[in-house]
Amino acid sequence: MEKLKKILTRIDGKGYKAYKDLQGKTFQFPDFELEFYYVQGDPFAGPSQVAVKIDQKRAGFPEATYKPKIRNVALNDYLTRALHQKIKKICKGRRGTGKSGLVAVDNPGQEILERSSVRVSLQEVEARLFLGLPARGRRVLGRQAEEMLLEEIPQLVEAALFFKSLDRNPLVKHIQVAEDQDAMRKELKEKGLIAFIANGSILPRRSGIDQRPLPQKEAVAFSSPPSLEVELSPPHAGNIKGMGIPEGITLIVGGGYHGKSTLLRALERSVYNHIPQDGREQVVTTPGALKIRAEDGRRVERVNITPFINNLPYGQDTNSFCSDEASGSTSQAANILEGLEAGARVLLMDEDTSATNFMIRDMRMQKLVAKNKEPITPFIDKVQQLYTDLGVSTILVIGGSGDYFDVADTVIMMDEYKARDVSIEARSIASEYQTMRQEEGGEKFGQVLKRKPQPESLNPRKGKKVKIKSRSDEAIQFGTENIDLHNVEQIVDPSQTRAIGDLIFFALRENLIDGKKTLGEILEIIEQKLEDQGLEMASPFPNQPQGNYARPRPLEIAAALNRLRTLRVKV
Ligand code: ADP
Ligand code: MG
Repeated sequence: MEKLKKILTRIDGKGYKAYKDLQGKTFQFPDFELEFYYVQGDPFAGPSQVAVKIDQKRAGFPEATYKPKIRNVALNDYLTRALHQKIKKICKGRRGTGKSGLVAVDNPGQEILERSSVRVSLQEVEARLFLGLPARGRRVLGRQAEEMLLEEIPQLVEAALFFKSLDRNPLVKHIQVAEDQDAMRKELKEKGLIAFIANGSILPRRSGIDQRPLPQKEAVAFSSPPSLEVELSPPHAGNIKGMGIPEGITLIVGGGYHGKSTLLRALERSVYNHIPQDGREQVVTTPGALKIRAEDGRRVERVNITPFINNLPYGQDTNSFCSDEASGSTSQAANILEGLEAGARVLLMDEDTSATNFMIRDMRMQKLVAKNKEPITPFIDKVQQLYTDLGVSTILVIGGSGDYFDVADTVIMMDEYKARDVSIEARSIASEYQTMRQEEGGEKFGQVLKRKPQPESLNPRKGKKVKIKSRSDEAIQFGTENIDLHNVEQIVDPSQTRAIGDLIFFALRENLIDGKKTLGEILEIIEQKLEDQGLEMASPFPNQPQGNYARPRPLEIAAALNRLRTLRVKV
């Protein structure tokens, strides 16, 4: 501490670069170490990164709070949130020019994700903070730096990172809720289910940009129709009743504005664990569930979309389809085939974001436009093959076409936000009123290509420098390219986007993308390495762990790679 104080006194009033003296140094405080991983070059640049390391003997977290791994993930998440709250209380914030005075930590939303912001182990607790080292103009403000580093930081550490200073109950609850969701996801599999929504869950959100739940008094709590009710028994909450969605093909029908999309959106996001009081903390979806939508304008690189699209005008190839500007239907087909290639096990689709001509072709249209004049084989004719040939289930929101009754195993109707099982009714309507349409799907689903990304098509550099950045959850700057992710709906956190960008660079750097390995093989190796080494490995800078990564699924890593416009593959 004294050493740090001396340096700050010495550099007070000097040019900002004088702060660089701190880079790589570690300072001993009475209760912890403060290590400067990275020191910013100027008060307007990205903030400095420090790590606070506390000996576990002092921090005092019982082993049961961080073992096994799921508890570790939940505890790290909880401590990140605790830091966030305490920063607001303790730290004075901006003082001086640019980012001067900033103290920050990664900022989790409604999901409990594996993060690099805090790490608890048998030996220590490490938290990674972002600091704006204070300056006036470009002159070091040594006094203010002292206040931040020698007063605020120790208070913060004391308040948020010692077991004894934290409220016991919410901490334990946070861990149990996450552990229960993991257990419930495992139970899904044993019971032949792909999703579960506990009775009493609150599905609607405040708004499209506010993921917090609609207040209790405005929301209709979920309750299962009796015929679909199942019971799961996670370790902490005990027996929970709710609606189980079985494998196979499920339709969500009902009038407009009756809550169909809200239900599907809850399922999309419940591949992740939710925090207590989220409303979805007892909603779980199979980990391999992938949202599929139309995404016209996206690039597509050599995807076999023949299961859905054939005989395009002017002989355009659909075995190995490329487009710089895919249409609604071709983009939706590509999204499915790429998803299958990357390991999707359940497809989630909403009519609101699907291409109509991709979903359905009714009898009258079949009469008017002959099969050999229509390149598209509609999804209705392939959805059963997806399940029988590949074991891939589908949950589909469709209020606009009863033709789908013929192919559905389960039909759930949303009626004033209440779910009803109308499978039997739908089946009897289907047999009473034939659609008279011709099936167009052929015998088999078709082939999912195993593509090999070519390393020379990925350039992380802008000029001579590697440049990979993401400021939101919707885009990654990769070299000079912008990867547009705003239609990749299951990225839920900007820290996931950041991790994806750096993981793609990692795969390139480590020669995983070598032109010979298939995308599936590359994703598998990344998963394994993430499991063994943690998110730290994604950092492009040696000895500089990044405090703002959150773990993405392989499906979203693939989605980003597939949306990089320069990507080229061999088949
Ligand atoms: P649909 O897809 O059937 O047209 P949405 O799911 O978009 O309907 O829901 C329409 C509106 O109703 C949205 O504003 C949504 O927030 C609200 N809503 C959905 N489910 C509930 C619920 N269980 N309780 C209260 N409001 C809800
Ligand atoms: Mg809708």
